[in-house]
Amino acid sequence: MARYTGPVCRLCRREKMKLFLKGPKCDSMKCPIERRPYPPGEHGRDRARQGSEYLTQLREKQKARRIYGVLEKQFRNYYEEANRQQGITGENLLRMLELRLDNIVFRANWGASRSQARQLVRHGHVLVNGRRVTIPSYRARRGDVVSLKDKTRNLIVVRHNVDTLGRQVPQWLEAGADGFEVTVRDLPMREQIDVPVRESLIVELFSK
Ligand code: SF4
Repeated sequence: MARYTGPVCRLCRREKMKLFLKGPKCDSMKCPIERRPYPPGEHGRDRARQGSEYLTQLREKQKARRIYGVLEKQFRNYYEEANRQQGITGENLLRMLELRLDNIVFRANWGASRSQARQLVRHGHVLVNGRRVTIPSYRARRGDVVSLKDKTRNLIVVRHNVDTLGRQVPQWLEAGADGFEVTVRDLPMREQIDVPVRESLIVELFSK
């Protein structure tokens, strides 16, 4: 599946908030949001936009897409599936995004960012129930055991991430003692998903 390959920090500036797409740089003073907290482009600083309802909904959708690194078509497919499921559509949508394999690798602190986590998956470093899975959008199920290959555990970048990132592993994942294995204990509930997205606005946008 294709992915966005353009400049990443512009995406945060467009949303006027940190989306934490770059790992350690995001917490440093090098983060462009610190110096230029206005939208990119020639007129980004002086363009006073009228805040329409549509614009607010659009921005929420774009924000969610960018956080999880999903392109428009695939995001739309997630929405369609979420809408067919029982329960609250917005929560279903976020749950599906959280259960992506690249997101789990990120949540487990093996990747500093979701894009780095995605690369670990694509390059065959990640196992699901002992079998190699190279599809970042692979959706984990309850009870799945996600781990890193033995050789990968010694990679400097992985060891560095595990030792330094210090993000709390969410409750719906159970971390193994060695830090290189997580089990999907439960499906994530909305309150366990800490992304700054108002999913109800995304549903309103798509259900027009
Ligand atoms: Fe966003 Fe991180 Fe770039 Fe800052 S450094 S603008 S948080 S991607």
